Amino acid sequence: MLRADVLVVGAGPAGCVAAWEAAAAAPGLDVLLIERDDAVGAPVRCAEGVGSAGLREFLNPDGAPWYSRKITKVIFWAPDDSEVRVGGGDIGYILDRTRFEPALADEAKRVGAEIWTGTEAVGMERLNGGWKVRLHGPRGEQDVLAKLVIGADGVESMVGRWAGLDTRVAARDMESCAQYVISNIAVDPDAIYLHFADRWAPGGYAWVFPKGVGVANVGLGLVALKSDGRSACAYLDAYAARYFPDGEVLGRTVGGVIAGVTVKQAVADAVMLAGDAAHMINPLSGGGIVNAMKAGRLAGRHAAAAIAAGDTSARRLNRYRDDWMALLGEDHIKYYRIKEALGKLDDAFFNRLARTVNAIPVEQRTLGRIFAHALVNHPRLIPVAARLFL
Ligand SMILES: Cc1cc2nc3c(=O)[nH]c(=O)nc-3n(C[C@H](O)[C@H](O)[C@H](O)COP(=O)(O)OP(=O)(O)OC[C@H]3O[C@@H](n4cnc5c(N)ncnc54)[C@H](O)[C@@H]3O)c2cc1C
Repeated sequence: MLRADVLVVGAGPAGCVAAWEAAAAAPGLDVLLIERDDAVGAPVRCAEGVGSAGLREFLNPDGAPWYSRKITKVIFWAPDDSEVRVGGGDIGYILDRTRFEPALADEAKRVGAEIWTGTEAVGMERLNGGWKVRLHGPRGEQDVLAKLVIGADGVESMVGRWAGLDTRVAARDMESCAQYVISNIAVDPDAIYLHFADRWAPGGYAWVFPKGVGVANVGLGLVALKSDGRSACAYLDAYAARYFPDGEVLGRTVGGVIAGVTVKQAVADAVMLAGDAAHMINPLSGGGIVNAMKAGRLAGRHAAAAIAAGDTSARRLNRYRDDWMALLGEDHIKYYRIKEALGKLDDAFFNRLARTVNAIPVEQRTLGRIFAHALVNHPRLIPVAARLFL
């Protein structure tokens, strides 16, 4: 049987960074990263937007070939289509994930991790204090005996279930997403657009994230329980027909986003979950790429330390979850409460809020000033804001 110290399942942002950090933390550690798709980074099921500061913690985007656009503006569309511009400067990037994840994987390789693509984990069982993981890939069926497994296997994670962890998602926390790459559209290629309107994306929002001049990822996420029964694709067809009637659809994708809070148990004996597998997405924005990398970094470091200490018990690995909760998990609980409170406000309220913000000169629209104006003019927001501090 093959052996590995750390087996990382899934080469998304969480898995690539986990493998990178584990191998970097302990030279000589056998780190194996497996990915069921034939290539790391493809197919893309994502709008690919990331904040600049979070991204720079991992890779330097200056002159890098793995992003499509630099973003300097954020534009909100209110339900009545009025536009609210905020921000300016180095806000973020629209990645090209077909190149971004390979760049992360290269870092993992550089520090000694091994990567197998086209290789799927199909089951696992406890053996000798570690896990015997059954793999299915180009080498046929084979077992790997791993001292520790990091489940970075995304939104449909099986590693957690195999390890007996409760990773179920409440229907109200599951957003169904559909996204098209659309060309021949007239949007500002330096801006991201976020569109809030119940008729277009109930319980979520629609987005336009530019991939280049005249071409963008156009998508939406909705909560099925709040929809009128149509699929996310049907909503997106209507949206694209209304706003981009001359656009040409170059690609389509669907996917799920877990807009909840971090799972209660992110570890078991010799198992850790990271990224979407542990529901580590920002529940307010639905962004999960940078979170996944931050979780992968923590998981990789804790994995290397646990193996060095000869203690991979859940009790010890819980330090990883504690660190995650201190870093971002507790914030997600607050964001989740805010999301719930905002969900009770209707489109008419958001139209009024847009008018309030637009009354502030564009160059003075700092977050603090927007917040203060909004609270003064819309007392219904006070209980929402209070949840930030609860
Ligand atoms: C439509 C859509 C738009 C989004 N837009 C954004 C956005 O703009 N910005 C943002 O920050 N986030 C966005 N997200 C969320 C973001 O894509 C995820 O949060 C992020 O990819 C999580 O990274 P991850 O490494 O945890 O999981 P993933 O990126 O899902 O990676 C998991 C990997 O594991 C592999 N895998 C799964 N099971 C196995 C197995 N058994 N064996 C081997 N390999 C396996 C999968 O093939 C996959 O490559 C979006 C999501 C969707 C659906």
